[in-house]
Amino acid sequence: MILGALEAGGTKMVCAIGNEKGEIFEQISIPTRTPETTVPEMIDYFREKKVEALGIGCFGPIDPNRGSGTYGYITSTPKLAWADYNIVGAFEEALGCPVGFDTDVNGSVLGEVTFGQAKGKSCVIYITIGTGVGAGIYIEGKLLHGMLHPEAGHVLIQKRSGDTFEGKCPYHKNCLEGLAAGPAIKERWGQDAVQLKDRTEVWDLEAYYIAQALTGYILTLSPQLIILGGGVMHQEQLFPLIRSHVKEMLNGYIKTQELADLEHYIVPASLHDDQGIMGCLELGRRALCEENG
Ligand code: ADP
Ligand code: ZN
Repeated sequence: MILGALEAGGTKMVCAIGNEKGEIFEQISIPTRTPETTVPEMIDYFREKKVEALGIGCFGPIDPNRGSGTYGYITSTPKLAWADYNIVGAFEEALGCPVGFDTDVNGSVLGEVTFGQAKGKSCVIYITIGTGVGAGIYIEGKLLHGMLHPEAGHVLIQKRSGDTFEGKCPYHKNCLEGLAAGPAIKERWGQDAVQLKDRTEVWDLEAYYIAQALTGYILTLSPQLIILGGGVMHQEQLFPLIRSHVKEMLNGYIKTQELADLEHYIVPASLHDDQGIMGCLELGRRALCEENG
């Protein structure tokens, strides 16, 4: 099976060719400009490789619900050139093959569930902490959409006393993204996150905010595994700090095997940062299977 995978991001489009085993044969990255310039370039790439199906994990908000009039569209994104753009339609028409479609973070959780450390689990959350914050949710064996799709990076967070940074999200200020995404770290502390590596107070505050969100997700969704990815999570010192804040916040209320072993419950991504693109291969495979009945 020759499958195409597209991880569509706000700054770059990662296009890959692979197979149903999650093997990636080759990969290119194209800067995200406008649909008029960027999409034809990607179409040429996939057409030349004769892909049998394509899976797209896309920045959002998007409409991933089949049956809806705007299924396959990027909808109300602040990246205006891409707002109300039928990305699935464009690829379906040009390539004439089945196209699978979901959020980028649902793609990542699907990658981990299909090929990575979450294999065999039925309820898993993948959270990316990067330029923004997003969460993909695999629940009862399915990628969660609901009325649209989860926007769990925007859950509201209680600020720690002493943190005078107001929060960067234009909608909520003090949501997780507004307080803890890479750009918020940079604005609060005046330096890129990566340069703040040795400032312990930076990472303790960061972990405190991430832990608040995780505690909410744990209480609401009862996940069996929580996977944290994205650029900011390359600061590995965050993991023990997050686990310790989560433990304190839950305060012993829930007693499960998973929570008794937080080191194997709140974990980094397992696929060398390929979880997203591998999940897109699986989205493509699923689209092909659906078409073939
Ligand atoms: P995106 O979210 O745009 O897809 P990333 O997940 O790489 O991309 O996130 C980029 C953000 O992560 C930037 O704000 C950057 O400052 C931060 N970042 C990237 N690498 C690191 C690192 N090693 N340590 C801390 N922060 C990082
Ligand atoms: Zn927000």
